[in-house]
Amino acid sequence: MVIGILAVQGAFIEHEKIFKELGADTIQLRQKNDLDRHFDRLVLPGGESTVQGKLLKDLGMFNILKEKIENGMPVLGTCAGLILLAENISNDTRAYFKTLPVTVKRNAYGRQLGSFHYDGEIKGLGTFPMEFIRAPYIENVSSGAEILAETDGKITAVRYKKQLGLSFHPELCSDYRLHKMFMEM
Ligand code: GLN
Repeated sequence: MVIGILAVQGAFIEHEKIFKELGADTIQLRQKNDLDRHFDRLVLPGGESTVQGKLLKDLGMFNILKEKIENGMPVLGTCAGLILLAENISNDTRAYFKTLPVTVKRNAYGRQLGSFHYDGEIKGLGTFPMEFIRAPYIENVSSGAEILAETDGKITAVRYKKQLGLSFHPELCSDYRLHKMFMEM
């Protein structure tokens, strides 16, 4: 299994380390040519969605990746990656891939609560250590998106077909169950 990890900006190294430890091959997707290489799965890491979205378009990678997701390539989006997948962003006029039928709110916890840890429940996994960093949450979901976690009343993990979207950063903890779940999707 080869996992393509978007590596134009943000926390991609951390995902790469975990997938390698779990026995997968990984490639970094930095430029358009990288998308010609073979990969079975896609990871959109945390970082800054506005920067990532702009770079994807400027580098000519956006439409190719959108098509791969629409054609069913499994994708894991964490934090900024979730924002890139979302159909709507309630506090921004921009939207990116629009393949995940959810509305997200960016920087939803405000500046004071920019970063925090929460031990939340994930459907099918149990308690999971969740690291939030200037995180979005999911305000609502539609058309069959399955809610996997609600953290303090806010939706923080969803699955829709082969797309997994998370508000938090599982690559910043030593619990690899969500990465394993993604490899099995
Ligand atoms: N606040 C960032 C954004 O809007 C997301 C933060 C993160 O990925 N840790 O893109």
